[in-house]
Amino acid sequence: KAVSAAASQVPRYVRVNTLKTCVDDVIDFFKRQGYAYLGKAASVEELKALSGKKFLLDLHLPELLVFPSQTDLHDNLLYTSGHIILQDKASCLPAFLLGPVAGSHVIDACAAPGNKTSHLAAILKNKGQIFAFDVDPKRVATMNTLLTRAGVTGCQLAQQDFLTVDPRDPKYSRVTHILLDPSCSGSGMVTRGPGEEAASSAERLQALAGFQRRVLSHALSFPALQRLVYSTCSLHQEENEDVVQAVLQEWGSAFRLVPAFPSWPCRGLTAFSGSENCLRASPAETLTHGFFVAVLERCKEGAAAPR
Ligand code: SAM
Repeated sequence: KAVSAAASQVPRYVRVNTLKTCVDDVIDFFKRQGYAYLGKAASVEELKALSGKKFLLDLHLPELLVFPSQTDLHDNLLYTSGHIILQDKASCLPAFLLGPVAGSHVIDACAAPGNKTSHLAAILKNKGQIFAFDVDPKRVATMNTLLTRAGVTGCQLAQQDFLTVDPRDPKYSRVTHILLDPSCSGSGMVTRGPGEEAASSAERLQALAGFQRRVLSHALSFPALQRLVYSTCSLHQEENEDVVQAVLQEWGSAFRLVPAFPSWPCRGLTAFSGSENCLRASPAETLTHGFFVAVLERCKEGAAAPR
């Protein structure tokens, strides 16, 4: 009951697709459709208080608009034409925190249906190269449609198990950034019914965590990698802090955790020294789906400033 009460408070988040338009034009469009724009939010409480045909600019993410939770924009022209992406705020964090500069070579390892890939392409301004992988053919087909609608170019999408992608292939020799958003229990998805939550048995969690550790370790083996974002929509420590801790230990001093979004209020569980560098999101605390993000950087070369 507590989860559904919190879920009903999660607003409708709208990411402006800067490959096709800009924030000001989208705001003007909604104003012409009768919505009242209230400016940039100063607090999460302001987001919570939204009602009727009103909207705000998010306080944390620059290209995110916030509408009351009941707002349905699936038939809106801006959505059907790919000018806006309907994406939960927490799910906008990984690409934003990876923050590759335009021209970078980036891997999206578990990419379908492609919301984060299209966000990465927008951050790259379609300059550079994205290698996107997903093992599921149906989800890859959906992703193709999404990327086309969003105006994404410079993305090579492959239906392939990321674990079989060879890090030594010269094709990937310039890959400096990886976004890793692997399959997880989905226990942070607030729209789920109580029955589905029960499916996260100990064995299932163990199997998922084993896969997550393998795929994270594989991602770290790309030779030019500088920065990686690991994310899940799971609430379980086994799939989050524990995965990061195990893989960091395995890699010794080669990689370190950097503070992910230091001003974000909700931090990683105190599972190990440094786990507060990870961030968490939840309906109650951040008005989003439940989510986890860790940002890893290679130690040897000069580290970029944390975001
Ligand atoms: N990043 C996506 C987005 O934002 O739209 C969501 C990714 S979803 C959480 C996880 C994806 O990982 C699923 O589409 C699943 O098919 C894919 N997957 C699972 N195992 C994989 C593997 N070994 N290699 C590549 N993709 C895999």
